[in-house]
Amino acid sequence: MNDELRQRLAAVRAQIASAAAAAGRRVEEIQLIAVSKTHPPAAVAAAVAAGVTDLGENRVQEAEHKIGALRQLNPQPRWHLIGHLQRNKARRAAELFDLIHSVDSARLAETLDRHAREQERRLPILLQINVSGEASKEGFWVPGGIQNATAYSELLRAIEVIIALPMLEVRGLMTIAPIVQHPEEARPYFAMLRELRDDLARRYPQTCWRELSMGMSDDLAAAIAEGATMVRIGRAIFGERLAISQQG
Ligand SMILES: *Cc1c(COP(=O)(O)O)cnc(C)c1O
Repeated sequence: MNDELRQRLAAVRAQIASAAAAAGRRVEEIQLIAVSKTHPPAAVAAAVAAGVTDLGENRVQEAEHKIGALRQLNPQPRWHLIGHLQRNKARRAAELFDLIHSVDSARLAETLDRHAREQERRLPILLQINVSGEASKEGFWVPGGIQNATAYSELLRAIEVIIALPMLEVRGLMTIAPIVQHPEEARPYFAMLRELRDDLARRYPQTCWRELSMGMSDDLAAAIAEGATMVRIGRAIFGERLAISQQG
């Protein structure tokens, strides 16, 4: 299994490198986050041994179990929460994760800020934006991005609340593109997120808007072409997701 994982990881890194080169970007600008959801701690340990530094999980409880089982790893990886966060899990999330990609309301941000203060740590976050408008997706609902004046002004109101919270550090935006036939069809959604980010950086220059977390196994090249600084890759590294009952 470990040889296969190493080969898959090398193939993903090569894909990132060629997408970066095609876009005239430096490969160091793009952080690979290996998404280990449904895969057991042993698979995570193998990935870390193969050079993975950043891991993504979409559920707090599952991540808690894995992080606990991997306490001995050296070096310790960074953990990213990429799935929807319920407010009743915000305390644990604030303890466990190095970056929360899925902040999708001012209320959740306020709750995280309170827990971060209790824990005496500053907590880096991204704001998840639903630019496709699909009802099935989480995130601030801004279909069409900055062209959607009504939805955008609502987002700006929430952002003004969030950037004033003392214990949270906004670092940028995250999105999930729709599932499409051809990866190029996802590209306009990545472009919308980048335009949003550029506009926010002009409006709120005091805040860091560097990160664009976008691109998964099937659409990472399109995301990198549009400026992704973090790609979240699951299946292309770990293989198909395991059934819930098999989760480690
Ligand atoms: C599962 C997941 C990924 C990884 O998806 P793959 O298609 O397996 O690469 C990325 N981002 C989020 C938010 C996810 O839930």
